[in-house]
Amino acid sequence: MTVREELEQKVRERGAESLSAAENGTIYHSLLALTKERLENSLRIQGDRKLYYISAEFLVGKLLSNNLINLGIYEEVKEALLEAGKSLAQIEELEPEPSLGNGGLGRLAACYLDSAATLGLPADGVGLLYHFGLFRQSFSQYKQQEAPDRWLTDQSWLRRTDISFAVPFPSGELRGVLYDLDVSGYENGVNRLHLFDLETVDEGLVKQGIDFDKKDIAHNLTLFLYPDDSDRAGRLLRVYQQYFMVSCGAQLILKELAGKGYALRDLHKHAVIQINDTHPSMVIPELIRLLQKDGISMDEAISIVSQTCAYTNHTILAEALEKWPLEYLEEAVPQLVPIIRELNRRITEKYSDPELAIIDENGLVHMARMDIHYGFSVNGVAALHTDILKNAELKEFAAIYPEKFNNKTNGVTFRRWLMHCDPELSEWITELIGSGWKKDANELQKLLAYGEDEAVLSRLLAIKQQKKEQLKVYLQENSGIEINSESIFDIQIKRLHEYKRQQMNALYLIWKYKRIKAGHRPRRPVTLLFGAKAAPAYIIAKDIIHLILCLQELIEKDPEVSPWLKVVMVENYNITWAERLIPACDISEQISLASKEASGTGNMKFMLNGAVTLGTMDGANVEISELVGNENIAIFGRSSDEVIHLYEEGPDRYTPAAFYPQDPEITELLDFLISPELMRLGDPENLGRLYRDMSRKDWFMALLDIKDYIRVKEQLLEDYEDRKAWAQKMLANIAKAGFFSSDRSVAEYNRDIWHLDVSC
Ligand SMILES: *Cc1c(COP(=O)(O)O)cnc(C)c1O
Repeated sequence: MTVREELEQKVRERGAESLSAAENGTIYHSLLALTKERLENSLRIQGDRKLYYISAEFLVGKLLSNNLINLGIYEEVKEALLEAGKSLAQIEELEPEPSLGNGGLGRLAACYLDSAATLGLPADGVGLLYHFGLFRQSFSQYKQQEAPDRWLTDQSWLRRTDISFAVPFPSGELRGVLYDLDVSGYENGVNRLHLFDLETVDEGLVKQGIDFDKKDIAHNLTLFLYPDDSDRAGRLLRVYQQYFMVSCGAQLILKELAGKGYALRDLHKHAVIQINDTHPSMVIPELIRLLQKDGISMDEAISIVSQTCAYTNHTILAEALEKWPLEYLEEAVPQLVPIIRELNRRITEKYSDPELAIIDENGLVHMARMDIHYGFSVNGVAALHTDILKNAELKEFAAIYPEKFNNKTNGVTFRRWLMHCDPELSEWITELIGSGWKKDANELQKLLAYGEDEAVLSRLLAIKQQKKEQLKVYLQENSGIEINSESIFDIQIKRLHEYKRQQMNALYLIWKYKRIKAGHRPRRPVTLLFGAKAAPAYIIAKDIIHLILCLQELIEKDPEVSPWLKVVMVENYNITWAERLIPACDISEQISLASKEASGTGNMKFMLNGAVTLGTMDGANVEISELVGNENIAIFGRSSDEVIHLYEEGPDRYTPAAFYPQDPEITELLDFLISPELMRLGDPENLGRLYRDMSRKDWFMALLDIKDYIRVKEQLLEDYEDRKAWAQKMLANIAKAGFFSSDRSVAEYNRDIWHLDVSC
């Protein structure tokens, strides 16, 4: 049966007369069923040795189109629908976006699963099935509101299995039930994402907003990702959750090993576990515990597990490197405490440096240190980040384990971040250079041959314009917001964090607003688009959202400024938004404080879609700039070396007092936060707090780089007017993006860390 016939049959089974007569909802459910069947009949990637990628987050995004692309039936389905007068894009709107992640780290995990399956590597994901995800964001009175993100539906991609595991807690055993999700490779077989749900979970526990009884672990463990940890109960809940995840994961891994007929002591030969950040770190002591239960000695168990586990570090921000008080672990996971103490004892016996101890003098357990000592590989996620780990942040560890440290620069899957989100660009690239780039992204470099081809360059501009028009229509229809598609689209979308410096972009906005008020109109209007969620307990981050939303309103209501400057902060930024915003972007904002953004992956998606990066020399921006050359990227700000130096104690130590109130230009910008016009609109408490924070603390040094930022951004806006030169920048960025395919990243992980056989 052809795909078309199958689809016709499926809609009829669901009561429609024909495809053209069917409702979109019916078509969606038919496509879901059809695709799931195809996935189930696909080749399951298998091997003698398998990777388990264990992660608290998998930000997979909607799956319909991606699966259709990977199964090679996207065009056929699209055509069949078109002929029936239906639009695949509209049908896709009906699919809820899985809420299983939060930001870059979770998206990376999803990209890596896609690439591992594409490369034919046996690699499954292991995580939790959160019923309400992080939260659903809405805005009210210029502030973020949080609600449960209810994304689970009866018919979905998930398949409940009959596998479940008992997880021991001091208050009694709880059961984890395994749900599976098929992960398709591009024109290849399937792997799985294993998600555990608490058998006794109770959605009814959530009454008001996202509040619930944090102590009721028998009912709450899989309600939310990253529950509020501003109090003890919240922090304990995170420990319970993490343990639930790793215990289920470890039991699944051992069960699969036994199922293949291998001995437990051969675990490291047949399994490799990639620990994605420190949330799953307890898998190390848990596996040691389980192996001992099966009669393996402590010495041998430690040796086996140490050869099985590898750790990916995602950040150098101290507050993000998890440290749990031993007392919490004693309360939540007492069975692991003697093991962790023993692991620590072996280290302190050998090394006297207190920086190397797993349990420090304050009784805090450093999860990353456990991973480094008892894993066989430690990788950073971009060249600069790995250098900082080796030479600064983790230098004591790099000195004793030089062979463990390695770099794996992040990547993104081009199936989702080009083929799916910008089919126009994707098809045009294929017309020019053939379709080889879909399997070997380096072939994108063939585009460089067209750098002086006027027809090619103007086509590239035309496609960008088309994507901008599409975004305009989408915003109009979904948020009632009007944007000018002739304006420059300048976009900053990422988690709200001070180190990412959305506050610096807001200062630019104030500067631009004042410039226009003073009569300096830009040559062309500018539209600044933001998307960001702030962690519910992150006060300053929420204040920054408040500032941006107030500025959005102030500018909108000012007839002198609004024709020239527009601000839009989209509600509930997620993968679906990213897929619409990125292809329409002219200027990609990657302005983190140098040394603080480990890699970034948003920067890669934008580049791939022909946006020009405006950024600091941070994370993978460094590698982007090396690839595209100075003329195709706009770099500003202090270097990571300078910033690291400023953070060290001493006379050079950074203080915003050097700029406020010393520097009149900067003073004017900051004072605007507490100006009558803004205070009238917004909440004086939030604006005042942000003003005080930025003028007295400014921990992420926005004032240090703001003037350089304004200068370079203004120059870039000027550069936009030379349309041919701009198109050449776009082309150079797309052509050089091949390095950032997650296929390359995953192949490197496999070559250096996993050592899996390609099975299909
Ligand atoms: C890619 C992506 C991120 C990561 O963005 P960065 O700019 O690298 O922080 C976060 N959220 C979503 C939805 C993404 O698609």
